[in-house]
Amino acid sequence: SPAILWFRNDLRLADNPALHAASEGEVLPVYVLDDAAAGRWAAGGAGRWWLHYSLEALAAALKEKGAELLLLRGEAATLIPQLAQKIGASAVHACSLIAPWARERDAAIAKAMEQAGGELVLHNPFLTTPEAIRTGQGKPYSVYTPFANAVMKLGDPPPAIPAPKRLDGVKPPVKGETLAQLGLLPSKPVPDWAAAFNEMWEPGEAGAHRQLDRFLEDALADYPAGRNRPGEDGSSRLSPHLHWGEVSPRQVWHAVRQRKAPATATDTYLKEIVWREFSHSILWHQPELPDKPLHAEYGHFPYRRDPKAQKAWQQGRTGYPIVDAGMRQLWQHGWMHNRVRMIVASVFIKHLLQPWQDGEAWFWDTLVDADLGNNSFNWQWVAGCGADASPFFRVFNPVLQGEKFDADGAYVRTFVPELAKLPDRWLHRPWEAPADVLRGAGVTLGRDYPEPIIDHATGRARALEALATMKAQA
Ligand code: FAD
Repeated sequence: SPAILWFRNDLRLADNPALHAASEGEVLPVYVLDDAAAGRWAAGGAGRWWLHYSLEALAAALKEKGAELLLLRGEAATLIPQLAQKIGASAVHACSLIAPWARERDAAIAKAMEQAGGELVLHNPFLTTPEAIRTGQGKPYSVYTPFANAVMKLGDPPPAIPAPKRLDGVKPPVKGETLAQLGLLPSKPVPDWAAAFNEMWEPGEAGAHRQLDRFLEDALADYPAGRNRPGEDGSSRLSPHLHWGEVSPRQVWHAVRQRKAPATATDTYLKEIVWREFSHSILWHQPELPDKPLHAEYGHFPYRRDPKAQKAWQQGRTGYPIVDAGMRQLWQHGWMHNRVRMIVASVFIKHLLQPWQDGEAWFWDTLVDADLGNNSFNWQWVAGCGADASPFFRVFNPVLQGEKFDADGAYVRTFVPELAKLPDRWLHRPWEAPADVLRGAGVTLGRDYPEPIIDHATGRARALEALATMKAQA
């Protein structure tokens, strides 16, 4: 009988185990936009932009192989079993998802399929499974290094599965939505906040491979140092492609291994891919990760929610140039450099005492790579309350961070152009610049660019005091 191939976060044809299994006979590929099931973790604004173009690319690629992608909107828990019944499919194939809401939904669909004499078959899109990597005592790891060692010890993963040559597509039994009807793009006539995304990104499988090739060619060899310089293209920028599953971690793994690059570069890079495995494993075992601190005492942390401070941070007007550059990069490109993500999150939580969940929510809406495992894991890491977290008392100094990682100011000058003419010496601390230097650079603080929202020493002392208050309560 025909099979259903249910695409979720695996929008590719090559190395797609669900597609491989479903395409042995006739196949009906389907995508369901199911915001109700996802609730507050439905894709945010930037993610929806990406999804629109990725689905467009996927539909075109499927068509070339002989199958039509059916687009539906609504409750997958009802639509998928109905669809299976309509075409007489006994199996629905999909790649598994880690988000708690999706696992609940899959359990319900599996049950419904079973009652109708069919099955939902889930395939693993990761390098490892959350069940496979366990400590000597059979427990899941809560610390990254031993987890990574265990993954590395497994050696290279099996080879990637090539894309099918042809697909025997089933004609959809119902009329689907058009891509435009899904309404994923920002609606007009408001200014198109995604305008610059088009120059930055090429969503879809072909775009993912072009980006991977570019990284291998230009940046892999110098990755250990290059990845820390936000002013350069030193990292792979594969995060949205990996999140949407346009390329698999296994494909990336093999491509990196096959490249002749220094072993330290290859290893450093593959260990980042393993961070992704780790954060997903933590989400699998601790589904409260997106909402609640994994260390319960942080439930009493005395945050002071302040909408005005949050707005200044979101809009890149904190007066700390590296922070403001990061927040504006996020808005313009839907992406931010990893080093800068750590700095802006630290300032948000520690200097401004804002709840990490609010920062997590802003990233969720504005990142094209917004990923429930990676985003919540990393916010908890910065907030000091997660698995293998950075200790709270280590408060980043945003000036020194800027001077260290953006020493030539290339990053700040790109995203905070009003400071572009300041000499390097003052670029990351404009409020300390002599009046004639500011005048020469055409900057009046408080008019062209804000004074720091809080002085670093004051912010740091206040954060440590808040930590002490929490500890006293615990
Ligand atoms: P590269 O340096 O080229 O790394 C390759 C890949 O490894 C990445 O694409 C990513 O899949 C994985 N990776 C790298 N660093 C991490 C990490 N710290 N944790 C988990 N996986 C990692 N990443 C997301 O994909 N989605 C998110 O929503 C997200 N939110 C974050 C929030 C905060 C506060 C912080 C500090 C980090 C967050 N990250 C997130 C992790 C990291 O910043 C991005 O994965 C990285 O910047 C993406 O750029 P890249 O592809 O060039 O990375």
